[in-house]
Amino acid sequence: MQYEEIVEIYDKIARTTKRLEMTDHLVELFSKVDPEEIDKVVYLTQGKVYPDFIPYELGIAERMVIKAIASTSGLGDNEIERLWKEKGDMGHVAEEAIGRKTQTTLMGMSELSVEKVYENLEKITKASGPNSQDIKMRYFSDLMHNAKPVEAKYITRSVMGKMRLGVADMTLIDALAITFAEKEQRDEIERAYNVCSDLGMVAETLAKEGLEEVRKIHLKVGVPIRAMLAERLPTLEAILEKTEGKAAFEFKYDGLRLQAHINPDKVELFSRRLENMTDQFPEFKTELKNVFQGKEAIIEGECVPIDVNTGAFLPFQIVSHRRGRKYGLREAQEDYPVHLVLFDCLYLDGEDLTNTPYKKRREQLKKAIKPSETVMFSEVLVTDDPDDAERFFLQTIEDGSEGLIAKSLTSVYVAGSRGWNWIKYKKDYESEMSDTVDLVVVGAFAGRGRRAGTYGALLMASYDEDEDRYKTFCKLGSGFDDEMLLDLPTRLDEHKLEKVHEKVDSKMKADFWFEPALVLEVLGAEITISPSHTAALDQKREGAGLAIRFPRFTKYRDDKAPTEATTVKELVSMYESQLKKLDLQQRM
Ligand code: AMP
Repeated sequence: MQYEEIVEIYDKIARTTKRLEMTDHLVELFSKVDPEEIDKVVYLTQGKVYPDFIPYELGIAERMVIKAIASTSGLGDNEIERLWKEKGDMGHVAEEAIGRKTQTTLMGMSELSVEKVYENLEKITKASGPNSQDIKMRYFSDLMHNAKPVEAKYITRSVMGKMRLGVADMTLIDALAITFAEKEQRDEIERAYNVCSDLGMVAETLAKEGLEEVRKIHLKVGVPIRAMLAERLPTLEAILEKTEGKAAFEFKYDGLRLQAHINPDKVELFSRRLENMTDQFPEFKTELKNVFQGKEAIIEGECVPIDVNTGAFLPFQIVSHRRGRKYGLREAQEDYPVHLVLFDCLYLDGEDLTNTPYKKRREQLKKAIKPSETVMFSEVLVTDDPDDAERFFLQTIEDGSEGLIAKSLTSVYVAGSRGWNWIKYKKDYESEMSDTVDLVVVGAFAGRGRRAGTYGALLMASYDEDEDRYKTFCKLGSGFDDEMLLDLPTRLDEHKLEKVHEKVDSKMKADFWFEPALVLEVLGAEITISPSHTAALDQKREGAGLAIRFPRFTKYRDDKAPTEATTVKELVSMYESQLKKLDLQQRM
């Protein structure tokens, strides 16, 4: 397939924010693709080269991209720099620059195929060694040399890892179902994706061999499963009602979720976002091998930092000191020792346990292994009595955990879904907003005084699952110390946009805009009706949304994707439970 055919459709997709229209365009795309290359088309559309769990880096510096565009277009570095400042999007810069190519540089161009573009991107990811930047630059320039303007736009975005098509995985799945099966069968495709986390592979199987083969995709040791997520409820009574009157209440440890894939030769660890974390926790490699003694397993647990002197859990933030560290691992291990608290078992010795009820999964895990000093089982209480659960909850808080996660005894493990199988009950949920929310940075306001030159406040949004959009919820300016203030631009600049992101609804005019990427945990005094924000707009009062009063930054939630931020629905339910509590207090 010619690359031009895909990018024409990308342009149509970029012009709409409506999921149904996007789906139609994707169906048009998939109908034209040769099944042999549909996996590549899916990765490109997701803005990737490989599925998330395969570590790779395109690693081309912005400066190199500018140079390559300058030389292939013949416009020179200064002009490209000028365009970059003017447009703020390298894709647009490339499109314009290639469009202004002179006759001489037009000579010797050949048509670009999808295969060629993908192959060069792969070569860019593989280039290593001292000359790697030159090699990467050569493959990128080779594509730019042959690219038409619109092709140049998307190649540049792919190379910079900023595709920004705004197509959610679920929309791709809708389109795959319509093209290669029946619309109603989309859930079967989604199931396969959730257990293998590789939409390219699912699409290829579907296009080449049909839904029958997709049904045969099962979990495999070494391939991460998309994590099951938890809902939340404000009272233990409400939780028990949802779980047929009885539930297993587990401590909710405040750490980093890890999915461990264990076989006798190899142990691999994946984060909740499917990144491979194995090298960051070498201590678990040996320990899990010892604990599992030759068994094959996929298990989930929370990695928590421990105070070696007291044995108490330490704040989660400490684990994040070890994230992304390539050097000094030994010091990290000594300074920030961690335990792995196991809470689920999805596969054991050839048996897929995801369809086995929770109670049985836990029993199998307990039978299979003996805990060690650093790998242990989560604390659990099975009860039908809310008072017992409340006492257990108070104990978890005292032990430094965040609260409880209630699990229905009969529930199966549904990969990739947020549902009522797991329900979280967090600290002081019922008091006025002493629970935190996780919000996405979508904009910022210029700082004044001591904050001049950096960001003074951030515009934070919650995620609206139904509309797949981000709705603003507060302006966040406190809780940051000086170090964090300095750190903010480094974390945010790569997501900077010229104007408000197309998926963000904001009434406020920020000075800077960002693509929704960075998630922060925020604590506030209470949730109020707000005329300035768009979260739950018109739901509680016409023309008004909800906002947080006195918001304060508490920590980074790098482990969360923006779509995993606190949802508008959750905010509404928090607001309602706050009202109920006020009402109770007034009547007492
Ligand atoms: P949250 O991150 O607030 O949405 O809460 C869900 C997270 O709690 C999961 O993704 C796990 O990382 C974490 N967690 C801690 N303890 C448990 C547990 N016993 N069972 C399940 N998840 C847990």
